[in-house]
Amino acid sequence: MGQLKWSRWLSAHAPQRPTWVCPRCQREWPCPPARLQLRARAGNRIALAVQMANYLYLAIGDLTISDLDLNPEDLYDRFVGWTRYRPD
Ligand SMILES: [Zn+2]
Repeated sequence: MGQLKWSRWLSAHAPQRPTWVCPRCQREWPCPPARLQLRARAGNRIALAVQMANYLYLAIGDLTISDLDLNPEDLYDRFVGWTRYRPD
């Protein structure tokens, strides 16, 4: 995949704020393609976890404002929990 195509693909699965729904998949972000992309870019699990904790922090602010019925434990699993496991 060429550089330009690759970056377009990445941005297609970027989180939409403040809803944190993927504009491409219409699934909760990070969707499976976003997870693959994030894992590949981070390089290692520690860096990935730190990055996702950062997203979690942003998402909590946004989602609290948008007044959805959210469970902090579910949000943690969605943003950070999955980074502990290897993809295969
Ligand atoms: Zn997506």
